Amino acid sequence: MTDNKLNALRNCKKCNRLFSSVDGNSLCSRCNDDIDDEFTRVREYIYDNPSSSVKDVSIATGVEADAILKWIREGKIVLSKGSSIAFCDRCGEPTDGGRFCAKCVHELSTGLKSGIGESTEAQRQRMGMHIKDARKK
Ligand SMILES: [Zn+2]
Ligand SMILES: [Zn+2]
Repeated sequence: MTDNKLNALRNCKKCNRLFSSVDGNSLCSRCNDDIDDEFTRVREYIYDNPSSSVKDVSIATGVEADAILKWIREGKIVLSKGSSIAFCDRCGEPTDGGRFCAKCVHELSTGLKSGIGESTEAQRQRMGMHIKDARKK
């Protein structure tokens, strides 16, 4: 909520139509309704199917995975404990329930295989500490 209600014309972020923004909205009213609709659909789908991945949700609801992930990151959609939607510990990208995304799993495994003795050990220790940290909360 903003105090000064400036009627500024802007282009809708989504459909690029010119509209008058009343409260600093970046979407026109039509797209705003769409988003509300999509959001409700996604939230309900995740609620009913807590173990589905972002990809499943995206296919089932027709909403882009990026938008779904944004809502999750913003805390608008709260995942239940049994959810298979998780974020990579290393880069923050979504995973299908694992600790690391496919890319990081690959990078970590090739990194480990290249056998840089000392740093591999350091890496392992760091990961060990990481697990302890995660358990604390
Ligand atoms: Zn629009
Ligand atoms: Zn990753």
